[in-house]
Amino acid sequence: MNLSYWEYKTWLSNIDFTIVGSGIVGLNCAYYLSRKYPKAKILILEKGILPQGASTKNAGFACFGSISEIVSDLKTDSQEDVQQLVRSRWEGIQLLRATLGDTKMDFQQHGGHELFLKEQTELFNDCAESLSEINNLLRPVYGEDAYYLHPNLFNFNKINNQYISSRFEGQINTGAMMNSLLSLVVNAGVQILNSITVTSFDENHGGVKVYTNQFELDTRKLIIATNGFAAQLLDEEVKPARAQVLITKPIGKLEIKGTFHLDEGFYYFRNIDSRILLGGGRNLDFKTEETSEFGQTELIQNRLDSMLREVILPHTDFEIEHRWSGIMGVGQTKRPIVKQLSENLICGVRLGGMGIAIGSLVGKELADLS
Ligand SMILES: Cc1cc2nc3c(=O)[nH]c(=O)nc-3n(C[C@H](O)[C@H](O)[C@H](O)COP(=O)(O)OP(=O)(O)OC[C@H]3O[C@@H](n4cnc5c(N)ncnc54)[C@H](O)[C@@H]3O)c2cc1C
Repeated sequence: MNLSYWEYKTWLSNIDFTIVGSGIVGLNCAYYLSRKYPKAKILILEKGILPQGASTKNAGFACFGSISEIVSDLKTDSQEDVQQLVRSRWEGIQLLRATLGDTKMDFQQHGGHELFLKEQTELFNDCAESLSEINNLLRPVYGEDAYYLHPNLFNFNKINNQYISSRFEGQINTGAMMNSLLSLVVNAGVQILNSITVTSFDENHGGVKVYTNQFELDTRKLIIATNGFAAQLLDEEVKPARAQVLITKPIGKLEIKGTFHLDEGFYYFRNIDSRILLGGGRNLDFKTEETSEFGQTELIQNRLDSMLREVILPHTDFEIEHRWSGIMGVGQTKRPIVKQLSENLICGVRLGGMGIAIGSLVGKELADLS
């Protein structure tokens, strides 16, 4: 790209911090950097015309761990580690709420419910037996008992007649949350350039040279917040994981309210605008879904359709309005990678399926490291 003097001088010179990726992590990082260094020039480079990974594609659950996840984690991790993981998610949501305010992201705390398929009686029994142990473990986080048994009030089909519910789980409007974050950051003086793909970078004395599909620039520090795409720029253990979603047309008198986890979290659904949003099914074909290409597959979409028809809305007519996918970043552990890679290079990636809960904290940690 042949840039003018003005373009170069205004947008691409004397940059203190360049952040790659305008997802929830990159935007929070920019916001906290602008507070820490009010005079700094902060630039975000984003390859999509909108954020184009997971943050504008997700299901909008403000969740902290369903009971089967916690039971499973306790088999491999210490009680302290499990408590700390849940605490980080809980505190992360409180930070996001404090940053944006509940109204701006339509935060609603209707509670969350884990449903167990009829054939998962053993898993249900294990979880039900662990209820008081887990409530005791997590009382220091929530301040009171979080999990309880809940009758099948929403008349789901083919499931155990009790859910195990969490009173603290909430939901947000993902689009509103991201739009508010973008405004916050732009109002703080951060420049965001869209449709710019960072292709590589070179560290040099006192800074980093950044190469993109359009231009090159020099920056004092480079912060990589590209989550599921991280392996394209960094040698870190992050794999892409595609997640497919659908949403129904509005359903008259939809009684279902809350966030729902099914089949050990491999499926998730919620109410939004009198519709059901449903995602999941990656476990049907992990290999194909280990991709950073957006798209839908017949296998998974058919399974989502039958889940809706047979389990979630067995007595209601519905039509699907829209289907999409997003790309998550996953790895061997659930913990994100937040670290200084060299003097002027930092990364915050691998947010897994919990980026709404921990995205703000990770962004803030990146700013603290800078
Ligand atoms: C379908 C789906 C449902 C989900 N549901 C939930 C949920 O209910 N609750 C929850 O907590 N989490 C959920 N998640 C996970 C959550 O959305 C993510 O953990 C979170 O959004 C990650 O944020 P991020 O900023 O790290 O990454 P992203 O939002 O992926 O942002 C990374 C950005 O980097 C950009 N980028 C990548 N490479 C480059 C490059 N080379 N140059 C320039 N830009 C680049 C991408 O375009 C992208 O915008 C879900 C994810 C998906 C996909």
